[in-house]
Amino acid sequence: MWRTVEGIGIERTPEDSPFRRVNDIVTGIDEKDDRFMGAVAPPIYENSIYRLPDFATAKSFNKGEVERYMYGKNANPTTDALAHKLALLEGGEAALCYSSGTAAIFTALMAGLQHGGHIIVVKNVYGRTSGFLKLFHPLGVTATFVDGTELQAIEDTIQPDTKVIYLESPTSWQFELQPIQDVAELARKHNITTMIDNTWATPVFQNPIGLGIDLVIHSASKYLGGHSDLVAGAIIGSRERIAQLPQLGAVLSPHESAKLMKGLRTLPIRMERHEKSSMKIADYLNRNGIIHEVRYPGLPAFGQHELARRQMHGCSGLLSFKLDTDLAGVERFINGLRHVSIGGSWGGFDSIIYTTAMSANVEEMLLEGFIPTQCRLSVGLEHVDTLLEDLDQALRKV
Ligand SMILES: *Cc1c(COP(=O)(O)O)cnc(C)c1O
Repeated sequence: MWRTVEGIGIERTPEDSPFRRVNDIVTGIDEKDDRFMGAVAPPIYENSIYRLPDFATAKSFNKGEVERYMYGKNANPTTDALAHKLALLEGGEAALCYSSGTAAIFTALMAGLQHGGHIIVVKNVYGRTSGFLKLFHPLGVTATFVDGTELQAIEDTIQPDTKVIYLESPTSWQFELQPIQDVAELARKHNITTMIDNTWATPVFQNPIGLGIDLVIHSASKYLGGHSDLVAGAIIGSRERIAQLPQLGAVLSPHESAKLMKGLRTLPIRMERHEKSSMKIADYLNRNGIIHEVRYPGLPAFGQHELARRQMHGCSGLLSFKLDTDLAGVERFINGLRHVSIGGSWGGFDSIIYTTAMSANVEEMLLEGFIPTQCRLSVGLEHVDTLLEDLDQALRKV
């Protein structure tokens, strides 16, 4: 079991290390049948049409008796190699890759809600996820947003026609966790499908399928890719559930698939560094008098730290904190940063910061419970002392 050591970071025994398991999966391309002629990096299959040798093969293919490639939108060998790795990483039987995390979310929601019904969603979920539910409203879908930190709140919200419970643990601004295993058990009792957005934790630090979740969703545009050079998504689950996902055409290109596989190779190394640096930075921020709340599940002071330790193997590098100042003070802090860049996304090599104070509609966001002086920092792979120095000199300008 990992534990937080103040001022140092996270400590764990080698047997508890999630990095070795992931490293064993991401190296090599697992082609036992040597489909790729021994290539160590995946070749890019840049084609839409595949020739079938004769009438009988075409017929067998259509009956599902032989596995072949026929059309690029349905399957691509490069993308399949990636999907195979993602399934292994999450401990699922199968996976499908999408042109974005958003496309993956839409597909999963469509699979669960195509016949209407009720969905329970945790509050502070990724913005486009809640946006989709408004879009689904005319299809007869109703949604209830709950505080998912307590199992009881979810249980109280279940209705006879509840089809899906949708989690995001932790959420990506407030970092609220849900008790994943308990929710999965509850859902199973009521025959409800469970889905989770696992983007923050990555398969390195959290494996929801092992905790009983049906479908795991990723935005691979963050840590899985890891180099801020691609947009992609994925859904992982049982063979049966993955086969039932509707084909909406938002497939991932073979080029992006190859690039993503390259990113995956360094995933365990990168996550180890992100975690180590983030622990130090969270600890530093937590001691700084101008900051009144650091939200990072790895901090012992974090309200749900014990749950984080129970259901995650460690912590990634995105955290938020609130500055004890006004909007002008936040602006001085952000403009004072020399190394950390201003930007909206996260999970890449470079450290990026964003604040609610920069939003076009600060007033609207206040109503949604955002604090205008809240900053979200994606701790990158730079040397941690460079980052600490940069934050320190900028905080002095507040
Ligand atoms: C970015 C993000 C998404 C959406 O992924 P895209 O690849 O940008 O479409 C979904 N969930 C979370 C938590 C995200 O941060």
